[in-house]
Amino acid sequence: MNALPKSEPDSRLEIIQLRSLQPGPRLIVTGAVHGNETAGTIAIRRMIEELRNKDLARGSVTFVPIVNVRAYNLGQRAVDANLNRDLREHAVAVTYEDHVANVICPLLREHDVLLDLHSFRRGDFPFVLVGPVNNTGEIEPFNRQAEEQALALALGLEHMVYGWLTANGAAAIGREAALGGAPANVSHGVGMTEYVRSQGGYALTVECGQHDNPNGPEVGYQMIAAALGHLGIIADAPARPRPRVTGIRIAAALLKQQEDETLAADFQNFDKLAAGDVITQTCAGPAQRAPADGYILFPAQHSSVGDKMAYFAEPSARFG
Ligand SMILES: [Zn+2]
Repeated sequence: MNALPKSEPDSRLEIIQLRSLQPGPRLIVTGAVHGNETAGTIAIRRMIEELRNKDLARGSVTFVPIVNVRAYNLGQRAVDANLNRDLREHAVAVTYEDHVANVICPLLREHDVLLDLHSFRRGDFPFVLVGPVNNTGEIEPFNRQAEEQALALALGLEHMVYGWLTANGAAAIGREAALGGAPANVSHGVGMTEYVRSQGGYALTVECGQHDNPNGPEVGYQMIAAALGHLGIIADAPARPRPRVTGIRIAAALLKQQEDETLAADFQNFDKLAAGDVITQTCAGPAQRAPADGYILFPAQHSSVGDKMAYFAEPSARFG
C-alpha cells in the first residue's frame, strides 16, 4: 500500500466544516496524523460526500482528511517528527510537523470533541484508545470521563484501551533515571487526544485496523457515523451494536535497554501474555518478562536503546 507517490499540495491543510444553525457539540474528525495511515482519510472523504445531502440536527463537524500531508504524500509515518508526540505550538517552527502543529493546535481548541482515526502495524482488530479516569493529578488532570466514555461505548468496539499518557510519563521518568541528563519530558506522550484533553475537551483515538486491512476505511466510516449520531449532530444515525467490552489498561512502556535486545516473538497487538512470559531477549537470553497476566500492545521491532519496544497492558474492569 502507499507505493504510488501522492501529490496533495503540502503547503496547506484541507479543513471542511459543516455547521448546523442550531447550537450543539463541535466535533472534529482527523485522519492521517501519521501519513501512512490512510483508513481515516478514505472514511472522512466518504462521510463528507454523504453529508453534502444531509441535514445537521445541531452543532458542527469539522473534517481534516489529511493532517500530515507531506508524510501522506511520501507514504510514511512522519517527515521529521511524530506529530502525535509532544504536540504543541512552536514560536519558532523548524520541522514540517512544527508548521502543521501551529495550524492544528488552534483548530483543535475550537472544538469540544476529537475523533482521531489511525491504523496500526501488527494485529487484527480495531480498538479505541480512551483517556484517563477523572483525576486532579499532575500528568493528565481530567474531568470529562463520563462524556468521553459514553462516546467510546457508542462506537461499539470490543477493545477499549487506556493509560497511554501515564505509562509514557512513567517511561520518560524511568528513561531519565537510566540515562541521566535532561529532566524527563513527560509531554513526549502528548498527542492529538492528550492535547485536546489538556485544553478542556475530550477525545478518542480509533485504531481502525492493520494499515493494509481493506476493511479499515469501513471501520473509520462507521466510527464517524456513530460519533455524529451519539452527539446528536445527525438525527438518524443507526446505533451501533454494543458488544461485551474488553477493558485494557496500559500498565508500562517497555524500553529497549540493550543494543542487541529484540522482541522474543512475532507479537501482534493484544497477544496474550502470562506472568513470566519472555517479551524481549538478547544474545545472552531472556531480558524483559511479563510482570503479570496481560497483553502486549504496539510491538515495534526496530528501535534504539531507550526507545519503546512495546507496551505491557492488563485487563481492566473500568468499562464494566
Ligand atoms: Zn497512528
